[in-house]
Amino acid sequence: MVESRDRWLAAAKAVVEGSLTGYRCPENDDADLRSEWIPFSDGGGGGEYRVYCPSCGAENYVLVRKERSAAEQEQPPPPLSPR
Ligand SMILES: [Zn+2]
Repeated sequence: MVESRDRWLAAAKAVVEGSLTGYRCPENDDADLRSEWIPFSDGGGGGEYRVYCPSCGAENYVLVRKERSAAEQEQPPPPLSPR
């Protein structure tokens, strides 16, 4: 079902942005979606969001990787603070 897939994608985007509010279950429209954060055990700061419907149990996972971007690596060191 393309429509439910699109609604899951929209909800996933909202979760990552921290604004998952009022998104109805894409499968059955029976409840508002909820999410929980599940950090990876490798300590790298990444993890995944489990987005689920508390009513029918439909769920999807949203992977979040915390990789240093090229922009971050090229940032100059912070200025020395006065002592
Ligand atoms: Zn549901």
